[in-house]
Amino acid sequence: MSGSRVLVLNSGSSSVKYQLIDMRGGSRLAVGLVERIGEGGGSRVKHTPADGESREWTGPVPDHDAALKAMAAELDRDGLGLDSPELAAIGHRVVHGGLRFTEPTVIDDAVLAEIERLIPVAPLHNPANLTGIRTAQSLRPDLPQVAVFDTAFHTTMPESAARYAIDVETADAHRIRRYGFHGTSHAYVSRETARLLGRAPEDVNVIVLHLGNGASASAVRGGRCVDTSMGLTPLEGLVMGTRSGDMDPAVIFHLMRVGGMSADEIDTLLNKRSGLTGLCGDNDMREIRRRVDAGDERAALAFDIYIHRLKKYIGAYYAVLGRVDAVAFTAGVGENSAPVREAALAGLEGLGLAVDSGLNAVRGDAARLISPADARVAVAVVPTDEEMEIATQSYALVNEECNPLLT
Ligand code: ADP
Repeated sequence: MSGSRVLVLNSGSSSVKYQLIDMRGGSRLAVGLVERIGEGGGSRVKHTPADGESREWTGPVPDHDAALKAMAAELDRDGLGLDSPELAAIGHRVVHGGLRFTEPTVIDDAVLAEIERLIPVAPLHNPANLTGIRTAQSLRPDLPQVAVFDTAFHTTMPESAARYAIDVETADAHRIRRYGFHGTSHAYVSRETARLLGRAPEDVNVIVLHLGNGASASAVRGGRCVDTSMGLTPLEGLVMGTRSGDMDPAVIFHLMRVGGMSADEIDTLLNKRSGLTGLCGDNDMREIRRRVDAGDERAALAFDIYIHRLKKYIGAYYAVLGRVDAVAFTAGVGENSAPVREAALAGLEGLGLAVDSGLNAVRGDAARLISPADARVAVAVVPTDEEMEIATQSYALVNEECNPLLT
């Protein structure tokens, strides 16, 4: 039997986030971040061991290779080096797995080639994920590397939810369909919600609202995703920190033909300068609430648009599921913003949905119920933990692979 530690890597275009997790007991041994990679001397490394002070420094980290070497050096200082026999696997967050990857997958050359083939549908994310994987492979070529895909949980969506109503040949030629994202979080939170209710995931229907800077909703029937709000890319669906979410696609033609904007300019507008930022100049829900409370009308309108969209998705997924056992709020806004949770469910008592304002106001790190005791539908706050989910899935997979009795 190999070791019990898993290193989780989330490689973005200019940052690498990592956590070293001991699966015996599920404790985090170290967490860290290398950001502003390739930005001259201005890169920043922050490393926090479980039983010590955080260490932070700025300096040149020119590329991902240097970033992972900086991470390895920090881990070494705590006696947690990558050469340790305790390390069982490296688990990588990979954003786009297309239709092929429905499960976590041990990475080999064919898997790398497929992730590369998906770059046209995930041009921002998959190249960075690939760089992280290749660099990690060069540091520990002997170790299993596992890809855990953001899209995997959503591959159970029926065609009726996954297809856009456009010409089928054109859609298929360009692999245009709804893939969904944040799947690791939706999987974890829907399972944890069932656990909170003391029921098996197979028996529970949940609407999961992952409200972070990026935001998505999903309808989960008996542990399987049947619909989600993000689509071909993370742009579809809810109003987000900087993304528009749903919109008439003709807005894009109008901006091109009448507004004289290029495709790249519109891409930036809709992904980076829209959503809450576009509506009121702020994307942080704390700041927006502060402004609303101070009587700021633009912030109030932004909040109302955000809530209106959220409520529409809750209603839609209620109809998709038919029977709903729980609504679960998660991620930065969902876990922390009592006003968002209250406003999103206000007026939905007819659907059996209500929030107990006393319970809603209590802050906490643990999964908890915030609906009244006699509510027909449970409303829960469930902190997400994508890194733990990636570690759990990676560890289960490598143990399965080396234990034929389990397969
Ligand atoms: P992501 O992983 O998508 O970057 P997070 O899930 O960390 O985002 O969520 C970040 C967002 O959470 C912030 O932009 C902010 O709007 C919101 N947030 C964080 N803390 C609070 C809080 N105490 N109250 C309200 N909103 C919060």
